[in-house]
Amino acid sequence: MGNADHIKRNNWLQRLTGLWRGMLLTLSYTIRRGKRKNAGPKSDQYFEQVQGTVTLQYPHEKLPVPENGRYQLHVEIDDCIVCDLCAKICPVDCIDIISIKSVEDMGKTSDGTTKRLHAAKFDIDMGKCMFCGLCTIVCPTECIIMTDEYDRSFSDPKELIYPFSFMTEAEAEEKRAALAKSEAEKKAAKEAALKAAQEAKKKAEDQ
Ligand code: SF4
Ligand code: SF4
Repeated sequence: MGNADHIKRNNWLQRLTGLWRGMLLTLSYTIRRGKRKNAGPKSDQYFEQVQGTVTLQYPHEKLPVPENGRYQLHVEIDDCIVCDLCAKICPVDCIDIISIKSVEDMGKTSDGTTKRLHAAKFDIDMGKCMFCGLCTIVCPTECIIMTDEYDRSFSDPKELIYPFSFMTEAEAEEKRAALAKSEAEKKAAKEAALKAAQEAKKKAEDQ
């Protein structure tokens, strides 16, 4: 037998051995699978069971994540007082807020804090976020939180900018106009009161 024939025969032997080992491994897992207890990801014993379920029906089933894990941010905008603290502390400037002072009573947040500012814009660019969690720590009303959601997917990077305020530009303009009108009225009233006081003072001095 020549050298070429010898190499050819060895290659075939290696392939057959590899195939046989692979089949044996699959067979052993199939047999052991029948003996395993089915502890799904919601089971308390999931991480303790070495021989537990190894295949998840994702996305219907997901591995549990730690409660203090840092994943996608969420803002409960009704509880936000638009104080801007989260945007100021963010090390990568991924929170973009535009506020407008309110002229009317805006009510209170669920923890009783008075709301005085509208959020004309509240965007978080999750593409830039480094999940440090600082914004959630400084928030006085605890309305910006990290959720357990980690697997949102998008085809366009722009979709990673999450909007939490849905105020239209027309609504924002309306609120700005109402604020300008209110401030002009207050200024006029202040000037009128000052003028009246000066006139009263002058009248008293003339008498
Ligand atoms: S987690 Fe950190 S990086 Fe992300 S928005 Fe909050 S402060 Fe910014
Ligand atoms: S720190 Fe909290 S209350 Fe203040 S703007 Fe951010 S999310 Fe809103």
